[in-house]
Amino acid sequence: MENVSGFFGSKVFNLKVMKERLPKDVYDDLMLVVDKGEPLKTATANVIAEQMKIWAIELGATHFTHWFQPMTGITAEKHDSFIEPSADGTVIMKFSGKNLIKGESDASSFPSGGLRATFEARGYTAWDPTSYAFVKDCTLYIPTCFFSYDGSALDKKTPLLRSCEALNRQTLRILRLFGNKDVKKVVANVGPEQEYFLIDKKIAEMRPDIMLCGRTLLGYKPPKGQELDDHYYGTINHRVTEYMHALDKSLWEHGVLAKTKHNEVAPAQHELAPVFSDVNTATDHNQLTMDYMKAVAIKHDMVCLLHEKPFNSVNGSGKHNNWSISTDAGVNLLDPGKTPYENAQFLLFLTATIAAVDEYQDLLRASVASAGNDHRLGANEAPPAIISIFLGDELDGILKSIENDESYVGAKSSEMELGVHTLPKLKKDTTDRNRTSPFAFTGNKFEFRMVGSSASIASPNIVLNTAVAEILRQFADELEKADDFEKALWQVIKKAVKAHKRIIFNGNNYSDEWKKEAKARGLCDLPTTVDAIPAYVSPKNIELFTRHGVFNNAELISRCDIMLENYYKTVNIECLTMLSMLKNYVVPACFKYEKQLCDLAESKMRILAHADKEKSYLKTVSDKTSGLIDAIVDLEKLLEEASPLHVYEKAKFYRDNVLPVMDTARSLSDGLESIFPKDLWPFPSYTDILYSVK
Ligand code: ADP
Ligand code: MG
Repeated sequence: MENVSGFFGSKVFNLKVMKERLPKDVYDDLMLVVDKGEPLKTATANVIAEQMKIWAIELGATHFTHWFQPMTGITAEKHDSFIEPSADGTVIMKFSGKNLIKGESDASSFPSGGLRATFEARGYTAWDPTSYAFVKDCTLYIPTCFFSYDGSALDKKTPLLRSCEALNRQTLRILRLFGNKDVKKVVANVGPEQEYFLIDKKIAEMRPDIMLCGRTLLGYKPPKGQELDDHYYGTINHRVTEYMHALDKSLWEHGVLAKTKHNEVAPAQHELAPVFSDVNTATDHNQLTMDYMKAVAIKHDMVCLLHEKPFNSVNGSGKHNNWSISTDAGVNLLDPGKTPYENAQFLLFLTATIAAVDEYQDLLRASVASAGNDHRLGANEAPPAIISIFLGDELDGILKSIENDESYVGAKSSEMELGVHTLPKLKKDTTDRNRTSPFAFTGNKFEFRMVGSSASIASPNIVLNTAVAEILRQFADELEKADDFEKALWQVIKKAVKAHKRIIFNGNNYSDEWKKEAKARGLCDLPTTVDAIPAYVSPKNIELFTRHGVFNNAELISRCDIMLENYYKTVNIECLTMLSMLKNYVVPACFKYEKQLCDLAESKMRILAHADKEKSYLKTVSDKTSGLIDAIVDLEKLLEEASPLHVYEKAKFYRDNVLPVMDTARSLSDGLESIFPKDLWPFPSYTDILYSVK
């Protein structure tokens, strides 16, 4: 590959390009918009648009698009060409400031949860100048927010940006109290580690479940799965290596900081982690990463699966959301400092995050809920559906000593009086030992491990930013009125530790004891999406979001509906796919096999006068087939019954009635597959799929 630094970001309208191409006053104006949120002047927008167009055309662009993130969780785009007719039959390439700043589209087919009345089907997109525009596939992509006529957010970016503002506002209040006057802006940084599966395209195309649902709905477990731990960090095979190179190249051209890649635990499973960036950029880049993962796979005759649980009996995929807060000077506020003052500040942000996670654990859980993630959370490889925080022994000891007004005796028995002496240097390798924790402190950041692999990272970060902003607000209210800052500070930290220590758990999150213990501590256990989503509209959480201007009431109610709708629609599609696989393929194959066994038994009876083994085989196949036919009839009846129900009831109905019968059908079908002649079974087996990329 050519030198990466030569082409990194070559398709991005980044600061370097802007500096080179924009007149200085225009560039300065734009920076005021980006850094201070000042309104964009029309004249400035016109100059930027013109330069952006010239730059994009040089890179082969013919079209532009307002790229947005509707509540489907994926991205949307409508392409308009730059052409404008001239009187002489030719065209000129045109792109105005107005084209750049605002778009309008008939958006009636995007989920709005009732926010947009049908007579007002228009949706608007507005340029987000804090995320760079880029060129992809001959189109200039402009990252935008998406909202309705009355300004209600119809997307994931708008509330994310609002949550960043809330976090910025409250963090600055705290920093001022610590005497810091220089910091002008605070951002949340996120590094999302992305897991995925790669399978051969020909094999994938033989499985309607993989093609339509992104996961297998049937499939008997393979003789060899991940038992030997031989795939994790194993040698990356040639075909996958080529894929990863091509993927890196596309991502680097688009300014995505793809950094780490390796084989994951399950066969055919891999991971990509970028270098962290501000959460808005990280969210856009993660969407781009997922797009490229799928597109590059197709070019290499493979299919990339981003589903949370494509296969039973091997690990599912997640997205580890590494989160921290930093100042515009690049100081990480979750990094223990070198001076007592910095340490006190660190402890305040640490406790604020702990308090936020405890206070809003239901919301955090809801923010990662989806039909796909339901198959993963609580399964044995993944964090359970209960949120707790892992701090490690050292920090745990420090917080305990604060709570009890004792001096801290550290691991190296260095006695420490808090607030006076320096904290021991917390090493990443001493803190990040617990891989079972859903929310782990890993030295200078928190890693939220419950996020689903296919999900946008916007929702969990909206909750995280807003919840931490709220606790910081409470802290700042307390501290701003204190006469003795240092004394008040310790009181605030101590009170928060006392009130929220129940969320801290350093043990094994996968154990049954923890489930009991968590219940005794009063922590939320919300095993399914249907249990979790209503958290968005509880009075406490509505108060949180409205107070910080992140969501209004109507936006929350609509989001709740959209997520539940998405849940039952997903299960409905899976159910219909399963029905078609059973009716059109599996049952006919069963009849064929039954016929073969009947013929065989009959002949054997005639010739040898016994056919006990054949008959017993026949009976097994016949019983399971008849069970399968019953399940098909049941499922069809259930789908009819579900149809008139309203959103919440419908989602509940699918969870309580449809999914269990699908499980029954699957286990019957998998039982049949396990004894079927290979050439009669209509679908590639798990072994065929999981080892298809050679
Ligand atoms: P692992 O968790 O697998 O040990 P790392 O801790 O090195 O790997 O990093 C995982 C992810 O966390 C990477 O995307 C990295 O850029 C990101 N990360 C590292 N430091 C921070 C930080 N301060 N804030 C947010 N993300 C971070
Ligand atoms: Mg990690």
